[in-house]
Amino acid sequence: MPHPLCGCNTDRESPNAEEIRKYSRMSIFLLLFGVSAVPISLEFKCKKCGQIFDRLNEEELRTFKY
Ligand SMILES: [Zn+2]
Repeated sequence: MPHPLCGCNTDRESPNAEEIRKYSRMSIFLLLFGVSAVPISLEFKCKKCGQIFDRLNEEELRTFKY
């Protein structure tokens, strides 16, 4: 299935896609100690138009390579 695009045809693989990661408090605590943590959400925002056009679903969050 193709990934969603923003209004100017940026997809999550594009260099114009910016990852916006949100972490829980517990994850932020782990990150302070250099432990890698899985974000609670990861959205993709277009650097050109500022639109958030895609996000990982729960399964993708678990399997995404950070
Ligand atoms: Zn765009």
